[in-house]
Amino acid sequence: MDGINLDQIIHEVVTKYLKKPMIVAGNWKMNMTVREGWEFLEKLGSVDTNVLIFPPYTTLALLAPEMRKRGILYGPQNFHYEDSGAYTGEISIPMIRELGCSCLLAGHSERRSYYNETDEALSRKVAKGIRSGFRVMLCIGESLEERRNGQWQKKLTEQIALDLRELERKELDSVLIAYEPIWAIGTGVSASLEEIQETHGFLKMAMREMFGCELPLLYGGSVNEKNAQEIGGCPYVDGFLIGGASLKPEKFRKIIEISKSV
Ligand code: PEP
Repeated sequence: MDGINLDQIIHEVVTKYLKKPMIVAGNWKMNMTVREGWEFLEKLGSVDTNVLIFPPYTTLALLAPEMRKRGILYGPQNFHYEDSGAYTGEISIPMIRELGCSCLLAGHSERRSYYNETDEALSRKVAKGIRSGFRVMLCIGESLEERRNGQWQKKLTEQIALDLRELERKELDSVLIAYEPIWAIGTGVSASLEEIQETHGFLKMAMREMFGCELPLLYGGSVNEKNAQEIGGCPYVDGFLIGGASLKPEKFRKIIEISKSV
């Protein structure tokens, strides 16, 4: 069958029609006081699917029982690879463990760019988080310049290879990847469906080549209640990482409901 890659077609059909339940993750960034978080949870109610929230630390600590009660999984937006010590402003795994967190966010582009978080530090963080029994959601993403210059494939595969370099094959089962094009974060303009499909397809193939397996792959970048259906319907999208729209309970609830039907 000249020009047709049968393996690829079978893979696409299988991923499209035998999709696992989507993951809907909200990154609250530096938003939501405890009171605001409480009101959010009251309005959101309980959930019966894979919903994960990354609140700021103070809100995380005080609202953990409330999130648990509603079936919401939760975790911190950042963490250190040392257990304790002179690291002013940081938070450690033993502190996070006390709160009953299940998943840790790592490598968000805002941390990479504003706080100079390097791939070297991230590889240590990811290994530490996973060896401490947590799942880790690793964010990767290219700049607009890298997208336009055709450098995006190199950038994304480099980030995956460098940030996961300390892990053994079995430990990869605890990793989720969130692909977040930097130019689509907080801009209100998500990547196009073609770009998402092409990039996710590329990343799944790259993971198979690198690790011999595929890791769950979420899309993030201006996901909202209006575009979630279409984005979630792309064959290689296993969930969403959501910033702005995760701050509004009505919008977040709509996206959760949509995620159950794509
Ligand atoms: C994010 O910061 O992870 C994000 C995807 O933000 P937004 O949904 O607001 O683009």
